[in-house]
Amino acid sequence: MFDKKTIRDIDLQGKRVLVRVDFNVPIKNGLVGDDTRIRAALPTLEYLIGHQAILILCSHLGRPDGSPDVKYSLKPVAEHLSQLLSKPVGFADDCIGAITTSKVAALKPGDILVLENTRFHAGETKNDADMARQLAALADIFVNDAFGSAHRAHASTEGVAHFLPAVAGFLMEKEIQYLGDVISAPEKPFVAILGGAKVSDKIGVIRNLSAKADVILIGGGMANTFFKAEGYPVGESLVEDEALDQAREFLKIGKTQIRLPVDVKIADKFAEDAAWKLMPTGPIPNGWMILDIGPETVIAYAKVIKKAKTVIWNGPMGVFEFPEFAKGTFGVAQAIANSQATSIIGGGDSVAAIQQSGLAGKISHISTGGGASLEMLEGLSLPGVTILLDK
Ligand code: ADP
Ligand code: MG
Repeated sequence: MFDKKTIRDIDLQGKRVLVRVDFNVPIKNGLVGDDTRIRAALPTLEYLIGHQAILILCSHLGRPDGSPDVKYSLKPVAEHLSQLLSKPVGFADDCIGAITTSKVAALKPGDILVLENTRFHAGETKNDADMARQLAALADIFVNDAFGSAHRAHASTEGVAHFLPAVAGFLMEKEIQYLGDVISAPEKPFVAILGGAKVSDKIGVIRNLSAKADVILIGGGMANTFFKAEGYPVGESLVEDEALDQAREFLKIGKTQIRLPVDVKIADKFAEDAAWKLMPTGPIPNGWMILDIGPETVIAYAKVIKKAKTVIWNGPMGVFEFPEFAKGTFGVAQAIANSQATSIIGGGDSVAAIQQSGLAGKISHISTGGGASLEMLEGLSLPGVTILLDK
């Protein structure tokens, strides 16, 4: 159960509301690229506007080194937001300080002001109490809707919530409902699909999900380490010798649960134009590397997915950046799209893959947070959520 107060639980009328959003979007030539994260905040913003709040929005963008850098300005984001909402959106050149305070003082109910990048101050990532206090001084209420930043205890995500009544926005609520509630009490059968580059990145995820999932389908680079743990030579494939013991342990505990690919697509180099061939799982010839799961595996995994009531997916099944090696990932994406299950996808590259596949509309929930979604899948609580008021 999502047990935090949300914007539904607090009086907003005429109140100055500081909203932490995740507007960390790609900027090219002064324009917003993919605006998924901005759109994801709109339900919260529209609700606040509708309830006559005064909106003050803050976010980080990129990784400036604690001082202003025009490359990472949120100004283009403010302009883009103005188009999305079809209404004027103000902009303050700093997120704290005298000019910002006077801009905030001039706002009326329904107005929106976007503050400059919080990471233009070194205090942001240090969760500096003084910076948090200055942010809090701008408003009456703090709303955290920045799921993608909630795994970090920074001044604008966690610190500020010590000084104001702090509640969740709708995006935050939805993310936690899917990545927390659905996964802790899934409708069964519950199938987890795990791939991506490395086992070591996902040990916590595998451990947590193996306690809950009926079946775990493994693919991607991490499968190689499992193959090696089973005793196959993997040729030139990406493999983590440091994680072999861990993989053996998982195979022992999850004997009936963990499925490995039954066939693989191997390549003679790590490149888009590599020569390739399919082979059943087994010793990989010298000079070759696994870059994707094979079609028999897609069929086998699709059968499992078809029976599922809940599916969680993190990590591509192959090097989907190269079209020839994207087929396993897209095949699994198609199987999820065809199924009736509640489907959840988390992880930066996994989300990019589902968007490329054109099947995003068929997924129940696509997370806006990469690192934050992984921490949720590990079963961790996020500092930016923990600090919010309990229901
Ligand atoms: P996410 O961001 O969704 O959590 P990861 O970052 O763990 O996913 O993994 C994504 C990366 O894994 C992709 O860049 C993909 O190319 C790579 N990958 C998948 N399969 C393989 C493989 N067999 N060999 C090498 N890299 C792989
Ligand atoms: Mg990634």
